[in-house]
Amino acid sequence: MSNMKTYTGGCHCGQVRFECTSDLAMVTACNCSICTKKGLHFTFLSPQSFQLRAGDDNLREYLFNKHTIRHQICIDCGVDVFARGQKPDGTQVVALNVNCIDGIELSKLTLTPFDGRSL
Ligand SMILES: [Zn+2]
Repeated sequence: MSNMKTYTGGCHCGQVRFECTSDLAMVTACNCSICTKKGLHFTFLSPQSFQLRAGDDNLREYLFNKHTIRHQICIDCGVDVFARGQKPDGTQVVALNVNCIDGIELSKLTLTPFDGRSL
């Protein structure tokens, strides 16, 4: 069973826009410091399933911890839209902040607990 859908979304001010394809089957409820403080809920996509449509030059990178995840933040509204990283085997991955998807309702998603604090 696949519930793959194409979604559009972006940052709060609208300068950063993306399109992605996902089933939103796995959305994190992570307890690490940045997810907790920013209220981030990520879903993981292959780079092929994520297209930045606008605002590439309006993003600032934020690095912390081991610098393996490169958070992409709108320089105007400060929203953490997505992050680029790689799995331990080197596969590139996009972590999308599901709160940036147009019309998303977090209460209707199934969140998967993730113990990022202990990593
Ligand atoms: Zn913005």
